[in-house]
Amino acid sequence: MTGLPLTRHARPDRRPHSLAEWRALGGYDAVAAARAMAPAAVVDMVAAAALNGRGGAGFPAATKWRFMPAPGTTPGDGPSYLIVNGDEMEPGAFKDRLFLEALPHQLIEGAIIAAHAMHVTEAIVLVRDAYRTGIAAMETAIAEAEAAGLLGGLHMRVHGSAGRYIVGEETALIEALEGKRAVPRKRPPFPAQSGLWGRPTTVNNVETIANAPVILAGGADAFRALSRTGEGGTKLFGISGRVHRPQLIEAPMGTTARELIDRCGGVSGSGVLRAFQPGGGASGFLGPEHLDVPLDFGHVAAAGSMFGTGTMIVLDDSACPIGVVARHMRFYARESCGWCTPCREGLPWAARILDALEAGTARATDLDVLRMTAAEGSPRGRSFCDLMGGAMQSLGSALARFGDLFDDHLAHGCTIGARH
Ligand code: SF4
Repeated sequence: MTGLPLTRHARPDRRPHSLAEWRALGGYDAVAAARAMAPAAVVDMVAAAALNGRGGAGFPAATKWRFMPAPGTTPGDGPSYLIVNGDEMEPGAFKDRLFLEALPHQLIEGAIIAAHAMHVTEAIVLVRDAYRTGIAAMETAIAEAEAAGLLGGLHMRVHGSAGRYIVGEETALIEALEGKRAVPRKRPPFPAQSGLWGRPTTVNNVETIANAPVILAGGADAFRALSRTGEGGTKLFGISGRVHRPQLIEAPMGTTARELIDRCGGVSGSGVLRAFQPGGGASGFLGPEHLDVPLDFGHVAAAGSMFGTGTMIVLDDSACPIGVVARHMRFYARESCGWCTPCREGLPWAARILDALEAGTARATDLDVLRMTAAEGSPRGRSFCDLMGGAMQSLGSALARFGDLFDDHLAHGCTIGARH
């Protein structure tokens, strides 16, 4: 790990700190600082820090926090909720796991600060069930913080998720927590008005919440100055695929793909970069000409892709991008909640055609169907949530960038492996 503030206390073996160890590192000082401030002043500080949500959409965290109603303005009695989303399921994503396993007290601090800012009374950390080590670390740390009286009036607990990709969508997550099938809800009402059990709710990603103590400890200006662009802070990048040392790297927001790949020992396999997906399997492919694009939400969108969770997948030219898209498409087809027909039917259809292209059994008309499916399915708003649009966008970008390879696959199936 680096010396940068978000993960500087993470041990290389990910052993979590006891409460006493964490306090010796200055832990919970940021909580005291937040509690000395009015809730609205904490939100203002997070706004001035320019913290964008780290769950994929990049929505300003403070704006989301401001959606929560002031106490006494909601009809009826009952709690309000902060849900810390650690149901990390995206292909290539492994960043939130670090916070859950190695920095549970930092996450608790962040939840207390966010809860104070939003007048929230209950915090639930939803964790992918496969992250058993993270669940245990969080449960231990919450029990320690509670016994020490650090939670104040906040009730906090961990909830294991059954593990579906769609649970990353905040309203589907709320449905799942209520014990129902995880399908997205119609909005409005938005979760801040009517969320979990009909009560005001905010869903934030693990990494977003882990940044709150960094902001409170160092101040908004220092947090913004960590970044090389207008989007504040550092980012935990997860780099995988064809690099020599796949790893997590904390680096300033706006760091380039060239620098990150260099820090991973360079491109492996053939050593020649074909392309990279900057934001996970649902983000559009970028090429060598984009190596110096500052990686943040705005710059990556302007380059024609999506920054998402900062999960970068690297392809060298001995890796078949059609095979990569086929695998991702199978994943998204499996994870579709089945609510809308274009998603339920279109994603498996596209996956089957991609598999046929790999096997050399596709027909020329299949390519036309694939192009039409990508063109019709990728614009936002064509389906109930963004799962289908994201999957189709990555397919569309592959068709645009690797058109000659698709034609080649049509004629011969996949020969890329044989050429290297
Ligand atoms: S786009 Fe797919 S995942 Fe999203 S609501 Fe429709 S069927 Fe469900």
